[in-house]
Amino acid sequence: MLDKRLLDVLACPRCKGPLEYDTAREELICRGEALAYPVRDGIPVMLVAEARPLNPAAETQDLHP
Ligand SMILES: [Zn+2]
Repeated sequence: MLDKRLLDVLACPRCKGPLEYDTAREELICRGEALAYPVRDGIPVMLVAEARPLNPAAETQDLHP
């Protein structure tokens, strides 16, 4: 489980916007950009290259060219 205080200080590395924690999927969600950042072993991976798009239509796009 992610520390709520940690969540408060975290921001999207791309748009600097606030993040929401998805407890079910263990991801940090940037609503503005519809990106999800993974949380591995309780450590948020705040890398744009590791983020995945939330829009199902964009799932097929390759984020890692
Ligand atoms: Zn963002």
